[in-house]
Amino acid sequence: MSISSAQANNRPAILDLKPVLDAVDAVLGAAARPVELHEPRFGARERELVLDCIDTNWVSSAGKYVTRFEEMVAAATGSRHAVAIVNGTAALHAALVLEGVEQDDEVLLPSITFVATANAVSHAGAIPHFVDSTWDTLGLDPQALEAHLDTIAVWRNGAWVNKQTGRRLRAVVPVHIFGHPVDMAALGAVAAKYDLVIVEDATESLGSTLNGQGCGTFGHSAVLSFNGNKIVTTGGGGMIVTDDEAHARHARHFTSTAKKAHAWAFDHDEVAYNYRLPNINAALGCAQMERLSAMIDAKRVLAERYLLAFSDFPGARIYREPKGSQSNYWLNTLVLDREYTTERDRLLGALHGHGIRARPLWTPMHLLPMYWDCPRSPLPVAEEMHTRCINLPSSPFLAESANKNKV
Ligand SMILES: *Cc1c(COP(=O)(O)O)cnc(C)c1O
Repeated sequence: MSISSAQANNRPAILDLKPVLDAVDAVLGAAARPVELHEPRFGARERELVLDCIDTNWVSSAGKYVTRFEEMVAAATGSRHAVAIVNGTAALHAALVLEGVEQDDEVLLPSITFVATANAVSHAGAIPHFVDSTWDTLGLDPQALEAHLDTIAVWRNGAWVNKQTGRRLRAVVPVHIFGHPVDMAALGAVAAKYDLVIVEDATESLGSTLNGQGCGTFGHSAVLSFNGNKIVTTGGGGMIVTDDEAHARHARHFTSTAKKAHAWAFDHDEVAYNYRLPNINAALGCAQMERLSAMIDAKRVLAERYLLAFSDFPGARIYREPKGSQSNYWLNTLVLDREYTTERDRLLGALHGHGIRARPLWTPMHLLPMYWDCPRSPLPVAEEMHTRCINLPSSPFLAESANKNKV
């Protein structure tokens, strides 16, 4: 028996923090401290395109960069159409309404997600219904979803209804957490069985693929985000992508006040939103998109370094992309062994004291006060995930500073 497995058998209940800090330091090399969780970098190209908006007076929600940015994002995901939106939350809201989610419908989503997913469901007047996650992907667990629906769903007056609340079950929103794709084949089967529309929350997974297919192309529509901490940023921004041309046309109309195209008349044909992305933001996005594949390559190099630094590590490991997928590794995740879940906050304190801006997983949605009363499946994995996961700094440029220092 090797020494390390003998040690593993009588591991102390207290996690030795020094080796964790050393391993993270080895990966981050000489990067300036503090090291933020995820930061953008802008260059001459960003400046050039943003200045062009100012110099030409095209700063608002029409202009060539909006169209160009939409084309670049459609190409990067493998979608036919893309509609630029003012941020990811607004894009989710609009996407849900456009998919037919109505007041008092229930929308299924993982409890482990950023609060925007649940908020968008609420903005649409619907009720978030939380389901469990799986360690296989960190995302929604299709088997847990199916078992739950088998228990609570009934077919009534031509629709699947939650028999505990009497409300219609309308849609499911899988979230590709930290860039790792949800098992979309399994989810697709459950969604088909219960007649649920799939709206992908692909806000964290630009450029990730599953069996060669881009995240954002599995559902009828999907949503991306270009917030300041995402891989590609427009300051704030979002996108709805879909292969359905009529749907894309409606999305564009619905998010730009439903104004009928006309040289001078102001005519509108439905209650709609002012959700379109300004040209000046899209210009930033175009410059960033030119570097998308280089940024993903760098993030995958960084992930490999984390994986290596924590391989055979006593007490914790780095989360590896699911089988068959190529993740963009938006955020690297350190998973503590079960016996160390009580050590999470002590470790976060030590990392912060050391200039490493790590953070815990989001508080699960069902534990937030505004969502306490929402329907839910049993959530054992979500609660465990929350206590065991820590995100580590993952900006693409960190791979460069690590390389230069040959760590
Ligand atoms: C970033 C993000 C969003 C959208 O956020 P915005 O800041 O509104 O662009 C939605 N869901 C998840 C899971 C996210 O990470």
